[in-house]
Amino acid sequence: MMNKESADIDFVIVGQGLAGSLLAYLLLQKGKRVQIFDAPEIPSSSKVAAGIFNPVTGRKLVKTWMADELFPFLEQFYLALEKELQTKFFHQVLIYRPFPNQEVQEYFKRNVLPENFYDFASLEFENIKYKNLVKSEWGGATTKQSGWVDLKILLDTFRVYFKEKGILIEEKFNPETAISQPYKTIFCEGFQGKFNPFFNYLPFNPVKGEVLDISIDGINLEEIISQGAFVVPLSQNTFRLGATYSWHELDFSPTPQGKKELIEKYHKLMKPDLMVVNHLAGVRPATKDRRPFVGMHPDLQQIGIFNGLGSKGVSLAPYFANQFAEFLVTGKELSSEVNINRFASLYLGAENS
Ligand SMILES: Cc1cc2nc3c(=O)[nH]c(=O)nc-3n(C[C@H](O)[C@H](O)[C@H](O)COP(=O)(O)OP(=O)(O)OC[C@H]3O[C@@H](n4cnc5c(N)ncnc54)[C@H](O)[C@@H]3O)c2cc1C
Repeated sequence: MMNKESADIDFVIVGQGLAGSLLAYLLLQKGKRVQIFDAPEIPSSSKVAAGIFNPVTGRKLVKTWMADELFPFLEQFYLALEKELQTKFFHQVLIYRPFPNQEVQEYFKRNVLPENFYDFASLEFENIKYKNLVKSEWGGATTKQSGWVDLKILLDTFRVYFKEKGILIEEKFNPETAISQPYKTIFCEGFQGKFNPFFNYLPFNPVKGEVLDISIDGINLEEIISQGAFVVPLSQNTFRLGATYSWHELDFSPTPQGKKELIEKYHKLMKPDLMVVNHLAGVRPATKDRRPFVGMHPDLQQIGIFNGLGSKGVSLAPYFANQFAEFLVTGKELSSEVNINRFASLYLGAENS
């Protein structure tokens, strides 16, 4: 159901998770008329995510894909958005990554690291900072340009913002109604995108994940601790502990095994006791080639997709929502690594089978 005449709409955005919210916001900023559909009964992975952004990953702490472009962009983007929405949700904090064993410590002692390594990390070879908290004797790396976005606050604030503009319809959108419309429809459905009849040829590779909200008494922790599991300080005594990865049973139900795994990981990493206060599960909209899905349908040029943010939505969404909004408004080319036209042969194959 539309509450506006179709002629009064430039874009319908399906989904008010992180992807849909940012794209809708940027199109509005460009003076476009937007209508958003979001179905409260369809779960959103943005509401489960820990919201971490971290420019380095892996045991060897290498820079993530496009970190030099994505990280400066996200910083100025979220800071400006905080001002616009008058809400605090962007937390720039360091991530302490204790070395898991002596071997890893020695790797970092021995190897000459690339010159720019120290732009985003520093190393120490003794556990001085977190002696009473962290079970590691070998020191660790502290990464910069990192932190977490409180996605619940951000999305709740956006919900009110879009409602006040009268452009949010809290209903499920039927994809078939997108055909032959005067406006463009962009699907930002997260995991549900896998079942969208226009885009189910794309190689999604969804990954279920679980997190626990925990309380730890009497500790003062401002940084994120991450090794095998992560502990993100949410407020005074509350932390988010995550995350599990499972390619099976792709649903949003927390499981006893997930909880057990997380508590075990916690005890390998941290010294204090914990108390579980909440348990959440979600499905990351990941893709086989680990790159987002951005662009227009090969045959139906009124229908597009912004999806495939995987486990890095917070880092990827600002840059690519901005790129997509520019494409939609001015026709400026999309980067070939994210443009879904890289899967044209899969589409043709599905059509001919
Ligand atoms: C356990 C876990 C931990 C994570 N941790 C991090 C992290 O630390 N850092 C990070 O960057 N990312 C993390 N992620 C990934 C992150 O959640 C995603 O990258 C991102 O939130 C995806 O956003 P989205 O908008 O694409 O999808 P979603 O947030 O799933 O939003 C999709 C929206 O579309 C709506 N919808 C779908 N279909 C329809 C329809 N037909 N009609 C109407 N509405 C519809 C749904 O209701 C939903 O609101 C984590 C994910 C999980 C599960």
